[in-house]
Amino acid sequence: MSLTFDPDRLPLPIGHWIGDRLIPASGEGLRMRRPSDGRAYADCPVASADLVDEAVATAQAALKTSNWGNLRPRERTNILHRWATLIEAEAETLAKVEALSSTRPVGQLVAGDVAVTAEQIRFFAEFADKEGGDLAPTDDGSLGLVMTEPYGVVGAITPWNFPLSMAGWKLGPALAAGNAVVLKPSEMTPFSTVLLAQLAVKAGLPAGLINIVLGDGPTTGAAITRHPGIAKVSFTGSTAAGSAIMADIARTGVKPMTLELGGKSPQIVFADADLDKAAAAIATSVLSNAGQACVAGSRLLVERSVADALLERIVGHMRAVRPGPTWNADTRYSPIISERQRDRIHAIVSASLTGSVECLTGGGPMDGDGYFYAPTLLDGVDQTSPAVMEEIFGPVLTVQRFDAEEEAMALADHPTYGLAAGLYTRDLSRALRLTRRLPAGTVWVNRYGRSRDHILPTGGYKRSGIGKDLGREAYLSNRRSKSVLIGL
Ligand code: NAD
Repeated sequence: MSLTFDPDRLPLPIGHWIGDRLIPASGEGLRMRRPSDGRAYADCPVASADLVDEAVATAQAALKTSNWGNLRPRERTNILHRWATLIEAEAETLAKVEALSSTRPVGQLVAGDVAVTAEQIRFFAEFADKEGGDLAPTDDGSLGLVMTEPYGVVGAITPWNFPLSMAGWKLGPALAAGNAVVLKPSEMTPFSTVLLAQLAVKAGLPAGLINIVLGDGPTTGAAITRHPGIAKVSFTGSTAAGSAIMADIARTGVKPMTLELGGKSPQIVFADADLDKAAAAIATSVLSNAGQACVAGSRLLVERSVADALLERIVGHMRAVRPGPTWNADTRYSPIISERQRDRIHAIVSASLTGSVECLTGGGPMDGDGYFYAPTLLDGVDQTSPAVMEEIFGPVLTVQRFDAEEEAMALADHPTYGLAAGLYTRDLSRALRLTRRLPAGTVWVNRYGRSRDHILPTGGYKRSGIGKDLGREAYLSNRRSKSVLIGL
């Protein structure tokens, strides 16, 4: 069966998911438009603080009645495995619902994001019966234990750029660790997350352990982060929203938080690199999802002697893209999420075209329906250019040339962000030496972008975030430790 679908005939689960009920919108919703053609197709319901309260109470009651946090851990693992299997069985439906609202082409979702989401849930499920506490080295008159236990109800907030896998990052470790979750997906892409939660109940997860409340940041998001019944907050989104959430939490109560925020990641190419491979990896990192990825390697730093040869190759990749609606199975190049975001990208590109800056390709919106923006290469920018300073979140690559390693290291060090970095060189000792010095939470060498090695944690330095998603760290951050000392 072809994955291509008719966007006007796709059933959507429009409503909040609390307990095991789909709760329809009450009051005015937020108008939603399809990024691929700009047409309005639904309104996103907005959960009030009262409804968030109901979701938190439902989660607390479900923890009590199911005893989820204190089950034999393997039972949690088994239920989460069944959920992952059901996600795979329903991959096409999930992919279509996700593709309709988001920038993710349906043809990339089934084997990509949906499969990865199922894998991540399985990956975290396996920690439940393998990660315990510690026996503390105390004297022989006592026995010291470090016990770990779940927090209770975790509040999660996710962005629009990879809705399903971002939900997997939050739900997988929180549930495996014995918590319940109240999750707010982005108001631009909420429905695939609702479907994901419905499948969990179908798979045997006790109802009420996952609750999905829809709405915007200031109303619904803030009601989650401020809620006294939310014991921990796990957020992925922009640095601006992350700062607002931190301030909110500081004002309304102290609780731990994981913040996965924005990036402006450098890719550094030395003259000894394999230029064909480097060009392909660099282009993919800014063309995939049209650059709407936190780790997009949007700043190219290239050794002067190979700059022209590398840029020629990257321009070739950029000019080869063909836009298409996300509901066509053969589409590879994504639209921008909204008209507003496309205008913002264009404003930053235009403001950066000063002095000797040259636009080698692209530089504007693409013709036709939808919010497509042409892949854009800005050569000769300096460190103060808006295109270098700001996270553009679009298919825009800036180019800065360097002559010496030290110069490259200075340019790589962004004043605000430290999410990821890429290094291309055949010199192993240089790669390892510079990896140590790069101020970033992830460094990729002679490749760029996340793999399916979910054991590698992801998270930022500087204002790119606090804490980690993925890896053992994400699981452990969903449990707190209790010290016990027993007199013998
Ligand atoms: P955003 O910050 O606008 O919104 C993210 C989520 O936060 C949405 O659900 C939104 O409704 C909610 N929100 C906004 N303000 C809030 C507030 N004051 N209180 C509570 N919730 C609030 O981000 P976006 O535009 O959806 O996503 C793009 C951003 O996400 C980029 O900056 C990108 O780098 C970042 N991101 C980071 C990672 C990572 O792993 N570091 C991964 C994906 C995306």
